[in-house]
Amino acid sequence: MSVLDVEGIDTYYGNSHVLHDLSLSLEENEIVALLGRNGAGKTTTLRSITGTVSPRSGAIRYRGEDVAGRSVDAISNSGIKLVPEERRVFPTLTVEENLLVAAESCANPREIGEMYEVFPVLDDLRENRGRNLSGGEQQMLSVARALVQNPDLLLLDEPTEGLAPVIVEDLRKVFREVVERDVTVLITEQNVEFALDLSERGYIIEKGTNAWEGSIDDLQQREDLLEQYLSVSIDEGDGERETETGSDAEGSTDSAPS
Ligand code: ATP
Repeated sequence: MSVLDVEGIDTYYGNSHVLHDLSLSLEENEIVALLGRNGAGKTTTLRSITGTVSPRSGAIRYRGEDVAGRSVDAISNSGIKLVPEERRVFPTLTVEENLLVAAESCANPREIGEMYEVFPVLDDLRENRGRNLSGGEQQMLSVARALVQNPDLLLLDEPTEGLAPVIVEDLRKVFREVVERDVTVLITEQNVEFALDLSERGYIIEKGTNAWEGSIDDLQQREDLLEQYLSVSIDEGDGERETETGSDAEGSTDSAPS
């Protein structure tokens, strides 16, 4: 049985129809990338899974049970944890207190000591308050807060957003270690290289609908898809991939496949 099956969901904000018949699935202990340009609907997909916004049609089966329409708390308590794009740490609490509060709010937490093994940088910062942490340290703490709650399925929304390259490298190591700890992960990223490097399978969504799915090995060979849907282009000078930043770069959709 899959850990998660999203089956043909349609999600709206008011009258605005954002997700159209969107489907994806995750198997046990996979790390799967959900890719697409700004505004493609990645965050809305995660919000639909966590119950923040309920799909109007379709099904979301978590370990076989349809959870669409359940409350955010009920879905969270069942084992799905989201690390949202905007980092959530308590600014006036220390690192240790942030972890304790997260652990105390769930029935079956992991040991806080285990979090310090995964995130040695947090071990050094135990007594520091959330507001005094750097962006990267706050992101580590956000992920640790989700992980201490013993998630079965972890949803990471653009975890590298705004972080310095050296911190991104630390996160890469951390996420690899997270998956070693029996957690299934769905990750959305604008940093395509980061997502491709971590994941085995991926989905590309465009304008709220499925555009492609397959193995990351295949996607790595598909410069046409990378360019068309993810605005990644090859620099002819050094052969390096470059990602356009900014919003839903509409103009790039008509780039010729290589
Ligand atoms: P980004 O990387 O910019 O977060 P995304 O792929 O995660 O992009 P979403 O945030 O899911 O995309 O947005 C999908 C569409 O839904 C966009 O057109 C966006 O403007 C719209 N949208 C997002 N949140 C809301 C909201 N609360 N109310 C109305 N429309 C929204």
